Amino acid sequence: MAITGIKGFNDILPGEVEKWQHIEATARRVFELYGFSEIRIPILEKTELFARSIGDTTDIVEKEMYSFVDKGEKAVTMRPEGTASVMRAFIEHKLYAQDPVAKLYYMGPMFRYERPQKGRYRQFHQIGAEVTGVTDPKVDAQVLTMLCHFFADLGLTEPTLQINSLGCPECRPVYRQALKDFLRGKLDQLCDDCKRRVDTNPLRALDCKSAHCKEATEGAPSVLDHLCAGCNDHFAATRRYLELVGTKYDINPRMVRGLDYYTRTTFELVTGLLGAQSAVAAGGRYDGLIADLGGPKLPGIGFAMGVERVALLLAAEEFRKRPDLFIAALGEEAQQQAFSLMTGLQRLGVSVEIDYEGKSLKSQMRRSDKFNSRFTLIIGEDEIARKTAGLKDMDAGVQGDVALDVEAIAAKIGK
Ligand code: ATP
Ligand code: MG
Repeated sequence: MAITGIKGFNDILPGEVEKWQHIEATARRVFELYGFSEIRIPILEKTELFARSIGDTTDIVEKEMYSFVDKGEKAVTMRPEGTASVMRAFIEHKLYAQDPVAKLYYMGPMFRYERPQKGRYRQFHQIGAEVTGVTDPKVDAQVLTMLCHFFADLGLTEPTLQINSLGCPECRPVYRQALKDFLRGKLDQLCDDCKRRVDTNPLRALDCKSAHCKEATEGAPSVLDHLCAGCNDHFAATRRYLELVGTKYDINPRMVRGLDYYTRTTFELVTGLLGAQSAVAAGGRYDGLIADLGGPKLPGIGFAMGVERVALLLAAEEFRKRPDLFIAALGEEAQQQAFSLMTGLQRLGVSVEIDYEGKSLKSQMRRSDKFNSRFTLIIGEDEIARKTAGLKDMDAGVQGDVALDVEAIAAKIGK
């Protein structure tokens, strides 16, 4: 029996991969407009990096990590997210010594042991960005605006932006206590996970997907009513800057995010088109994380988007690439000429296909249809004798003669 892949680990095949390339190219182009540089981080990290940054009581660290002991008896984990690794690298290489303000982006696979379903996989891909060293809310507004710019450039009207503030170490404990007190009064209505969370991570109860928990927490106290003056001002200024540049948002005081390191501004880009997998991108501030990981006392903010979910939103679009030219050839000599023209044109930057084993003209034309090339050139004995052939513009449906010469053909094709 043939060996299959592992459940939750997907292949991205030609036909689909062009969409991914388009998403990645759009991210690179847009992020670079905002001054971000790429950073490439490893897939494997010491387990303690994630335990310490994401938080021991989060879903990710409690039950979703691909952790194992390697041959050197080290506890390692296949990264479940990118921020912890990027900050580890930022600290390890002392990037802050050159400039505390670093703008970094990354893209690549992440690994979480979750129940595979549409929009949720065990190997999935994120594109993320991080900014260090700036507390000013201009940077919050800029990061959010960049993310919305990216989705707009993909031609998407979904997802939409929701923002919240989770406060800081000064005001969050007060809110946490108020929420705990509220949840204690609702214990019998909460799911088993949330019963546990009341003591360990009460904010997560607001994010629970169970309908009972949603209902039970409807009247829960709002984090926004518990912000200290500093956090309140920061959130108000973030909103003003978003409005100044026309970035649309809704406030969602129930959004808590699943990672412990978030402070102040948090956000999600949500869609109604993907069922329960509604978050397409998510992120927030993490003003304590860099210091917690042993680095300098610098703030940070960032996000990650799930590329599979972005790709699902683009499902209707056609990104398949078309070759510039298909050459059909009849007879031994014409096939040799077609092969040599093809190679010469490819060297000039024209994409060309032939039917390598093409027999009848009919079967070659069937293959040409399949490729849907922009132009078609047909060469037979006559054409070789005349050193000229008909070049057909497939979209316009018009044909004109062209000399059988790579420069002449490339010029006609506009390359
Ligand atoms: P969810 O609530 O859907 O589990 P999350 O809060 O765990 O999301 P983050 O850790 O913030 O997600 O990751 C950012 C983005 O990565 C998500 O918004 C989503 O688009 C994507 N993502 C997260 N987990 C998966 C997964 N298992 N499969 C596919 N995409 C994922
Ligand atoms: Mg999750």
